[in-house]
Amino acid sequence: MKWPTKSRSKRRIMRRTPGGRNVVHLKPRKQSKAHCAVCRQALKGVAQKGAASEKRPSRPYGGYLCSACVRQMMIERARA
Ligand SMILES: [Zn+2]
Repeated sequence: MKWPTKSRSKRRIMRRTPGGRNVVHLKPRKQSKAHCAVCRQALKGVAQKGAASEKRPSRPYGGYLCSACVRQMMIERARA
């Protein structure tokens, strides 16, 4: 089999053409969901499409930490 390119930035999908040939189609990889930097849980309220300012929750560390970790961090800071 002849691969179209050595690049792995796109995912490879095998397709059978109407003529019966097996060919490799290159498709963009699926974007992974944003994850919290502390607990690694998938972040809620982070959209894949739209402007950067519209994609993230507009609070401190929005789109970087989950709400539980932000709350925990702020409590620890206030106590320190
Ligand atoms: Zn978290």
